[in-house]
Amino acid sequence: MDSALTDLIRISNVTGKDSTLVQGGGGNTSVKTADGTYMYIKASGTALKDMNRKRGWRRLRLDAVLSVIKDPSLAALEAHKREPEVVNRLLLACDDDVAGAARPSVESHLHAFLDRYVIHLHPLVVAAHVNAKGGKPQIEKLFRTEKFPPLWVPYTDPGFMLARRIARLVEKYRKEFGRTPAVMFLQKHGLFVTAGTPDAALKLVRKVIRTCSSKLKTPRPRKIKSPAESDIAAAKSAIAGAVRQATRRSLPVTYYPNNEAVAAFMSREDAARLLATPALNPDELVYANGSAMWLEECDVKTISRKLKSLISKGQKPAAAFIVKGLGLFVAADKKTSPVIAEITGCSLLIRMYATKLGGILALSRRQQDFINNWESEAFRKKLASEKK
Ligand SMILES: [Zn+2]
Repeated sequence: MDSALTDLIRISNVTGKDSTLVQGGGGNTSVKTADGTYMYIKASGTALKDMNRKRGWRRLRLDAVLSVIKDPSLAALEAHKREPEVVNRLLLACDDDVAGAARPSVESHLHAFLDRYVIHLHPLVVAAHVNAKGGKPQIEKLFRTEKFPPLWVPYTDPGFMLARRIARLVEKYRKEFGRTPAVMFLQKHGLFVTAGTPDAALKLVRKVIRTCSSKLKTPRPRKIKSPAESDIAAAKSAIAGAVRQATRRSLPVTYYPNNEAVAAFMSREDAARLLATPALNPDELVYANGSAMWLEECDVKTISRKLKSLISKGQKPAAAFIVKGLGLFVAADKKTSPVIAEITGCSLLIRMYATKLGGILALSRRQQDFINNWESEAFRKKLASEKK
């Protein structure tokens, strides 16, 4: 086996098994071969921890991927025509014997112009900064002693435009510092680290996590009281009934017993306001249909009215519900439900952290619309619900 592939599996499994680094299976990794001909990259729809020699990756010809980014005719196309074409060209750049038609990561073009080893993640402690209004100055402060400071990337629609923007910013950084930025913070998105060896890349991830955690205080609940079984059952049936009424779909409702984050969130006076802010990042929008719904009263009529109101505004009906005093409920198929629960739990923490860093920075309506219409995200969600 190519040593670049061995390295890819290793850095992917190590990061993928660390619950502080991956939420809802988010993130991707890549390794370029020593001669610069190929790039091995995670495939869409496989979690980092599940990658192995046989599956979960693709090998692409690096020059073909780089030519996608540089193609001015793609930049001139409208998004709905451009993005499927980019996916198509990335598939054409694949050169391997992998069985099936796994797609290379939708961020392949972005990996192509970075160093040999690339790790991209959406860690909670990074989100606490990239989703906060005061996040950028805080990152500058935390990393102020670095000779080569991290690169901050303002929010850009995912896909081709994000890759193009990062290419421009990286070019500018190279002119200024004489090297590729080793760490990039993507506003409302996540983290990229890139290095010349697998160990340097892994070490860099740990350093960023340590630095970003250093000033965050984990919110603690006042007290956690276990709710009565009968109250949980009543809430489940009210949510299921309301979802059926508002969306004409029957979905199972799962209760996730309280963890400290949910309990701490429920005890806040501003809980309703914190959840009135829309989705924080593409994952929360795609998987959980936006932020969780805050419920102080849990009856079919109230929930159904709230769901219908979201739909009438052109938004998707919430899939996660925080019922005051009870906790987190998710209305979704059995495979997607745990992913939504995980993303929502993290989102609650990020929202609490962000209030201490100048306030929550969420996706604007236009940014949400772009993602809702983005074919690649629909594809990722479909894969998640099919996963065994
Ligand atoms: Zn990402």
